[in-house]
Amino acid sequence: MTTLKRVDVHVEGLVQGVGFRPFVYSLANRLGLAGRVHNDVNGVHIEVEGAHDGVEEFLTALERDAPALSAIERVTVVSGEPAGHRGFTIATGDPAGPRRALVSADTATCDDCLRELADPADRRHRYPFINCAGCGPRFTIVRGAPGDRLMTTMAAFGMCDDCAREYHDPAGRRHHAQATCCPACGPRLLLRDPRGTELCGDPIACAAALLRAGRVVAVKGLGGYHLAVTASDERAAADLRGRKHREEKPFAVMAADLAQARLLAEIDDTAAALLTGRARPIVLLPRRDSAPTGAPTGAPTGAPTGAPTGALTGAPTRAATGVPTGGLAVAPSVAPGHRSLGLMLPYTALHHLLLAELAEPIVLTSGNVSDEPIAYEDDDALTRLGGIADAFLTHDRAIHQRTDDSVIRLLPGAITMLRRARGHAPEPLALRRPVPRPVLACGAELKSTFCLAQGRRAFVSQHLGDLENHDTLRTFVESIDHYCGLFGIRPEIVAHDLHPGYLSTRHALEITGVEHVGVQHHHAHIAACLADNGDPGPVIGVAFDGLGHGTDGTLWGGEFLRADLAGYERLGHLAQIPMPGGAAAVRQPWRMTAAYLRDDHPGLDVTRRNVGRWADAVHLAATGLDSPLTSSAGLLFDAVSALLGIRDKITYEGQAAIELEQRADPVETGAYPAALTTTSGPLIVEAGDLVRAAAADLTAGTDPGVIAGRFHNGVAAAITRTCVALRQATGLTAVALSGAVFQNALLLDRTVQRLRAAGFRVLKHVRVPPNDGGLSLGQAAIAAAQDHT
Ligand SMILES: [Zn+2]
Ligand SMILES: [Zn+2]
Repeated sequence: MTTLKRVDVHVEGLVQGVGFRPFVYSLANRLGLAGRVHNDVNGVHIEVEGAHDGVEEFLTALERDAPALSAIERVTVVSGEPAGHRGFTIATGDPAGPRRALVSADTATCDDCLRELADPADRRHRYPFINCAGCGPRFTIVRGAPGDRLMTTMAAFGMCDDCAREYHDPAGRRHHAQATCCPACGPRLLLRDPRGTELCGDPIACAAALLRAGRVVAVKGLGGYHLAVTASDERAAADLRGRKHREEKPFAVMAADLAQARLLAEIDDTAAALLTGRARPIVLLPRRDSAPTGAPTGAPTGAPTGAPTGALTGAPTRAATGVPTGGLAVAPSVAPGHRSLGLMLPYTALHHLLLAELAEPIVLTSGNVSDEPIAYEDDDALTRLGGIADAFLTHDRAIHQRTDDSVIRLLPGAITMLRRARGHAPEPLALRRPVPRPVLACGAELKSTFCLAQGRRAFVSQHLGDLENHDTLRTFVESIDHYCGLFGIRPEIVAHDLHPGYLSTRHALEITGVEHVGVQHHHAHIAACLADNGDPGPVIGVAFDGLGHGTDGTLWGGEFLRADLAGYERLGHLAQIPMPGGAAAVRQPWRMTAAYLRDDHPGLDVTRRNVGRWADAVHLAATGLDSPLTSSAGLLFDAVSALLGIRDKITYEGQAAIELEQRADPVETGAYPAALTTTSGPLIVEAGDLVRAAAADLTAGTDPGVIAGRFHNGVAAAITRTCVALRQATGLTAVALSGAVFQNALLLDRTVQRLRAAGFRVLKHVRVPPNDGGLSLGQAAIAAAQDHT
């Protein structure tokens, strides 16, 4: 006779709404075990009993074979007396009490669902809202209480008998799939004109026809509306730019599949895995057609005749109709002046159907005007995008949380998250050690996120955007409440930036009954990098950034800190330089060139282009009038960008530096020198040396691409020399790189190479952005570390 064994198993982590209970049910049945499984406030609770060996195998397989979307954080097993269960059941009760369970990020349509989508015999054939327990909308439709359909925007759709049967079938792949639906009971796709009137005909075929005809179509996605045009259509892309008031910032492109994407960009194995992974971010990749630098050429419009319709994996037809050898054409206005292209693959069934119908890639850019937040409510979308889109491909499933596409940049052997949103939020990042008391960190101002930390989990919100925009600020405040409710967190500590004018700081200080912790901007960047890597420090932190509030009343941004999570010391920085005209110097990079060069190189083009204003800027810099001092690395890049004639004034944040990187000759190995000086205080990097060397080369007729290359290498060399000097002073052998300037792949690559060659261990960002989007994680880590002491 076999010995009977009974255990109570508690599983914590991301285990609700991911098919975990059906998985447990089939596992127990396969092993002939009895008992029950149910969701509770912390995760999943299992009572299981049967033969000793069977229970042992159950416990092993529970972690080994868990569903792909789940993420087990902890399993607790308690043995007990067998209760005489007969069979194994799934309990569906609604847990009461404070919530600790997690919510998955939205997930791309899975292969099983794609097969059904393409199968004429399936009842969901060509149904744009097909999903299952392993894929589909999640975070964006959740209103509250994880794991309950009534608390999602799918509550508006009562399930038909067929869907209800699948929903309750423990063995099926739609068991407790909160968003499951079908054509008989689920959301309906429709095409509207800008006044909201429904257009007749098949919405997908009509939308595709409009796109072929050069029109702009708004498409409702998971986290908001996008605006689409055919990617090869220059007139349409230029139209879209004009209507969106988006002058130069590159558009993202969606391709039907990997094969079509390969016609547009160089895609290695890492890129392919990212593009086809369940998060489906926009991935910045080297484009196949070289970046056009001249004026836009002709305006090819219209569709290739006889484009196949209906097939889900239609081969791109333009490849066969006379496009440049080796790739599909992307219209010049899509990503002007850029050697890389932001690419993504379809992540909803609606995208799959539209791309297959159209048989060529589309521009898919945020549904907004200029820098406003992306539209996600139907009426608001019609109002705000009515002047941009010629039609709206939309549906009646509401979006609850506005969520942009995530953006990732690839380096050889490294990934940099530039924007963390759809597909990643709200999944928590694991902390090295638990926080003593729950923390809310309010982040910065642009590229805003907040972070809630409790236990070992840090929930970094999705990218929210610029808080100076009223709508974004409202979302910021509401989303903090939403996250607190979802995850059962009541912050006792509230961390914020030192900048008193940031709206995030003001919001933090308005929260009463909590302890407030002010965090220096660049310390927060380095702490974010430490938390990102699960490293406690101390390190030499290199924070190369735009502008941040320093503790000495000046603006910092090119900082070398001795830092751990609890504190920091400023050991070095770029030499301070006046910003002639203050904020005007951010919008007009040529002013920084004037601040650096003054009247040293009178024959330069940048002086001629700004004749009449140059002398004023030099005067402001020389007298210090209306010229705050800064050690910003971002503005150093701006100064060189304007010097080389790349960008005298900008239309989006970071543009001058981004375009400077795009112009840099990647094979150039020369490096401009910069002196290191010191008196008694911090080490000073004489960044002006780099600008003067660049000006001398330019005067000598050197190619701007070569100069940009030498400048990048010079900055990397200066960082390394400074770190070597600080290693001698401190004994620290690890360097953490953070700040918006390290979004620059060329600089990051060169800096990492040089630091490693000098014997340093180098930490860089992986899971959160080096820009201000990652700042809230650093603030939370610092507040928690200080709470420990
Ligand atoms: Zn699926
Ligand atoms: Zn149904």
